[in-house]
Amino acid sequence: MVDDKLRTPGAVRDAERWTAHNYHPLPVVISSAEGAWLTDVDGKRYLDCLAGYSALNFGHRHPQLIAAAHAQLDRLTLTSRAFIHDQFADFCRELAELCGKDLVLPMNTGAEAVETGIKVARKWGYQVKGVPAGQANIIVADGNFHGRTTTIVSFSTDEDARADFGPYTPGFTVVPYGDLDALTAAIDDNTVAVLLEPIQGEQGVVVPPEGYLPGVRQVCTDRNVLFIADEIQSGLGRTGRTFACDHEGVVPDMYLLGKALGGGIVPVSAVAANSDVLGVLKPGQHGSTFGGNPLACAVATEVVRLLATGEFQRRSAELGERLRAGLEGLLGKGLVGVRVRGLWAGLDIDPALMSGREACERLMARGILAKDTHGSTIRLAPPLVITEEEIDQAIKTLTEVLAA
Ligand SMILES: *Cc1c(COP(=O)(O)O)cnc(C)c1O
Repeated sequence: MVDDKLRTPGAVRDAERWTAHNYHPLPVVISSAEGAWLTDVDGKRYLDCLAGYSALNFGHRHPQLIAAAHAQLDRLTLTSRAFIHDQFADFCRELAELCGKDLVLPMNTGAEAVETGIKVARKWGYQVKGVPAGQANIIVADGNFHGRTTTIVSFSTDEDARADFGPYTPGFTVVPYGDLDALTAAIDDNTVAVLLEPIQGEQGVVVPPEGYLPGVRQVCTDRNVLFIADEIQSGLGRTGRTFACDHEGVVPDMYLLGKALGGGIVPVSAVAANSDVLGVLKPGQHGSTFGGNPLACAVATEVVRLLATGEFQRRSAELGERLRAGLEGLLGKGLVGVRVRGLWAGLDIDPALMSGREACERLMARGILAKDTHGSTIRLAPPLVITEEEIDQAIKTLTEVLAA
């Protein structure tokens, strides 16, 4: 059916014409949103089952976050860290308390939080652990996703993310994810940190075997190595707890946070750690023009306050069980694998049926927006404000797509 009154085809063409093709978006053009719902330029509504890769855990335009942003826009937006502003202390204190750590270092994007973690771990290694100059190494996992900078893609195992971006930054050792023996064997006297996602989101919501994270914690303690948890996607309520590490009672030395910390409004990231670790940084050694700006702090403080109530973690845990039940019912009926933690699910579609991309296109035609990760795997990560009825609707639509 061709309807020349539809604005979408032209808007898709225009968007593709003027941008580098570093993404392959679904052919939908969104113009407004509220809660768990998106509306496109033709007025068609979609249930958001991606939530900006978990940057929108509290839904689109959460009233409390929007109010904080508006109020701050009318007072002060930027000072740089050359001066102190009146939103800074509350943000750092409240986030540090949420994390159970002494100190916070605010940045903007997730990749910057990861870079900060790497720099802090190396400096800690030389100054505190006593690693010989230039010898520090960091252990990372196969299948990782930590961002897109040249250093971070240096230890990616995804060829698309890595190929032709060398020369690569040395100092990283890749071990299989979920294999504690391999990780333990890779640690030597120059190892300063283990950097892991407690659940690998981009890889398809891959949950490591039970006991792995506590094992990593123990070996890091025993060998005087920092455990850095990249909770940029898994943290802040997504899995039904504040942090994915909480499911196994694990406390890392450094939390890397981002995505949902900005409330879906501004990019905000942070590293949280104790002063024996973050204290290695002295003035002039690291920074960011926009990191910890007043607008970011005002919004992110409200994010922390939403999380401090526990309401979103509870919703995610409870509704996640409904999502799990619905998805497990589709095993053998088009799905060959399902992994669920809170409102976060990785689904492996039978590759004989369709690719993940095809599944997402068919879901889109029926009013659900989701995103494939690799091959026939798709990820569902709806905003945590989604309702029971909306979850049921998503399951019903997925059932139809898999049966068609
Ligand atoms: C998204 C993501 C990052 C990178 O965040 P950006 O804001 O895109 O730089 C890092 N780690 C994980 C686990 C992520 O999901």
